[in-house]
Amino acid sequence: MVTELAQEIYNLLEESLALSLSYFVNTEKRIHILYLLSSMILAYYVFSKSRIKTSFIKYLFPKRIWASQSAFVDYYLFVFNSIFKIMLIAPYIIVGFYIAFYINEALLVIFGYPKFSLGVTQTIILYTISLTIFGDFLTYIVHLLMHKVPFLWEFHKVHHSATTLNPMTQYRIHPLELIINNIRGIIVFGLVTGFFDYLSAHSIDKMVFLGVNVFHFIFLFFGSNLRHSHVKLKYPKYLEFIFISPFQHQIHHSIDPKHFNKNMGSKLAIWDYIFGTLVLSRSASKVRFGIPKENLKYKSFWQNLINPFINQIGYFKRAKKLTKNQKNKSNFF
Ligand SMILES: [Zn+2]
Ligand SMILES: [Zn+2]
Repeated sequence: MVTELAQEIYNLLEESLALSLSYFVNTEKRIHILYLLSSMILAYYVFSKSRIKTSFIKYLFPKRIWASQSAFVDYYLFVFNSIFKIMLIAPYIIVGFYIAFYINEALLVIFGYPKFSLGVTQTIILYTISLTIFGDFLTYIVHLLMHKVPFLWEFHKVHHSATTLNPMTQYRIHPLELIINNIRGIIVFGLVTGFFDYLSAHSIDKMVFLGVNVFHFIFLFFGSNLRHSHVKLKYPKYLEFIFISPFQHQIHHSIDPKHFNKNMGSKLAIWDYIFGTLVLSRSASKVRFGIPKENLKYKSFWQNLINPFINQIGYFKRAKKLTKNQKNKSNFF
């Protein structure tokens, strides 16, 4: 019995490690070798334009960033989170297809068969555009909630507690945030796929929907890895109203209160522009990363894992105290 359990745990750990390593050769993942290389080329462009005197390799891989205590928390969380991906996320990906099925059914019941149906090419183009825009919008909304709702902020703080940024910081998220993000992804996939399944009258195989999204590929190829880095890649001013540049995301990580809750978009900057949370690269020069006053509380892997829960107790106690005070006040009057 004990040996069986030990074997199960060993298998899970082995699978988690394999999943983590597979990210470097998975074209859907940001840290695929190809995207890391394309990011290096863009970093070289930034390097050549700057007045930095060191060699390019030294500029790209400073020990104080890649071997910092903060970076090690990123690496540990990346591997640790893969356990959750295997146990709690992978088995539920299928839910996206169920949602798609029921959306399609619901549309048929409400509107009947559509009067026209999209062709295969039309479907793929419009589907990819819709998935990108709707997915990006929901990513913005969920990110906004992560910053504004105290319960969620405690978990999202883990991402912001990074004091140095490297491409692996993208995966520095609390397991609870990982689960929320995946639920969001499954819902977006289900809704958009169901809608286009209806409009295309099932003319294309559902697996096509899982194919590579060209917009996602462009996003990954053109320096998405530099968002979490010290390389200040900025876009021309007008482009930064449409797309979030790597430096704009670095501003999102700034410890300066004037940058709090800014640049919360993922691919598109338009949501930040619409909701008044956009900051352009030119309005910030040097940014330090982290969360004010609390960086010291999030130095280790365990602190990042446990603190979000401990802090909820703090909120609960404060809320209790507040209601008690209000009760006393009303008794007094
Ligand atoms: Zn954030
Ligand atoms: Zn980030």
